Amino acid sequence: AKHNGGNGYKFVNRGLMNKADERLAIEQNIYQALKQNEIVNYYQPITDSRTYSVCGFEVLCRWLKADGEIIPPLKFLGVAEQTGMIIPIGVRVIEQALGDLQRFQQKDRDLFMTLNFSPLQLLDDTTVDYLINEVREKGLDASKIWVEMTEESYIEDEKALIQTLDRLKVHDFKLALDDFGSGYSSMKYLTALPIDIVKFDKTLIDNIHNNAQSFKLLKASRQLASVCNLMTVAEGIETSEQKNCVSEINIDYQQGYLFGKPTDFAAAIKLIG
Ligand code: C2E
Ligand code: CA
Ligand code: CA
Ligand code: CA
Repeated sequence: AKHNGGNGYKFVNRGLMNKADERLAIEQNIYQALKQNEIVNYYQPITDSRTYSVCGFEVLCRWLKADGEIIPPLKFLGVAEQTGMIIPIGVRVIEQALGDLQRFQQKDRDLFMTLNFSPLQLLDDTTVDYLINEVREKGLDASKIWVEMTEESYIEDEKALIQTLDRLKVHDFKLALDDFGSGYSSMKYLTALPIDIVKFDKTLIDNIHNNAQSFKLLKASRQLASVCNLMTVAEGIETSEQKNCVSEINIDYQQGYLFGKPTDFAAAIKLIG
């Protein structure tokens, strides 16, 4: 449960407030941040393993404070998930993402974009309706939009989750299982969920260039994905040795600091040639 980790941003003096007051204060902080347009999308390039050209972007939000401080998502999304503020945050993220996707696609019409959906977002019909309607209204091709989820979501409400995923599939969205290899029972989700893409977690990648066993494990994971007819993405590529190992075993896409860190839209669009 990485979203509920102990690294929640400390907005208030916990010693002076009770739980309910604290929750309210955090909610109001996020509410203000949304009102002042401080929740901003960053974009990290995803490259094609054969050509190394940028073919898509993952949307990763940031809280840009008025004083210039940039708060990373893991510092506030855990709390947002607990208080429900993830819903209005998510709507804002989708709104920015679709507008920016239109602009990206003016330079390259095949460009895709990937959105992270938390368990709460996936179970929220309003969020899913909003995504489907906005995509239709903007005339975007839903097959160029991936919804990324972690296996965490499966635990919440299995039936409702599958219903949502099927609905997204009917509307032609692509579904990706995020962070594969970081959990304990990832394997069953490859067949239990109607996914199209599996993203191999950075922990599966970290040692592939200097540890034969690690490389074999990634190779086996890639074969597993093939058997399940899934496209593949390797995350957390930081070195050219890792890049070469990943290309060698025909993983479709690569993502990581080697190709580019998440940046604001203005910097991201310059990466499309
Ligand atoms: P994630 O979806 O697994 O995203 C990948 C994270 O790894 C991002 O962290 C990214 O900046 C980082 N990363 C990418 N390449 C490298 C690399 O080569 N090396 C290293 N060390 N790190 C790399 P970030 O941006 O801090 O986001 C953290 C998490 O917050 C995301 O993990 C995702 O679960 C969540 N998140 C971010 N934006 C959203 C959002 O709009 N909605 C939801 N529901 N969750 C979000
Ligand atoms: Ca992700
Ligand atoms: Ca991931
Ligand atoms: Ca992650």
